[in-house]
Amino acid sequence: MRLEGSCLCGGVRFEIDGEFEPRSYCHCTSCKRLSGGIGTANGRIRSDSVRITAGKELLRTFVPEGGSAKTFCSACGSNLFGGGWPESEYSSVRLPAIDAPFDGRPDRHIFTRSVASWETLPDDGLLREDH
Ligand SMILES: [Zn+2]
Ligand SMILES: [Zn+2]
Repeated sequence: MRLEGSCLCGGVRFEIDGEFEPRSYCHCTSCKRLSGGIGTANGRIRSDSVRITAGKELLRTFVPEGGSAKTFCSACGSNLFGGGWPESEYSSVRLPAIDAPFDGRPDRHIFTRSVASWETLPDDGLLREDH
């Protein structure tokens, strides 16, 4: 499958050519902080299937203590990749970064133990994992 993605300011553009699986909504505290919301929506990709087509120089990576690398656009702050990209074999692409509609949707909520006091998990019938 081939998908195109970009950040909010448009400075970073990328393509994914290969395996892509919409996978999970992550409610961990790191994802809340970096997203400014209830967490992140993620697809699983092979790291080497991602090609940065513009704005490579804008990318910055932050590695939280005890967590995996998260990569964002330094101009607009959009979070683009997680799960150790680009060094890990598989990593996450944030679904809001993908430009056009695609097939499928995440089938689970993860880190539900970190649901915030101001957050309500949707009653959507999806799997829930507390870690
Ligand atoms: Zn940007
Ligand atoms: Zn998370």
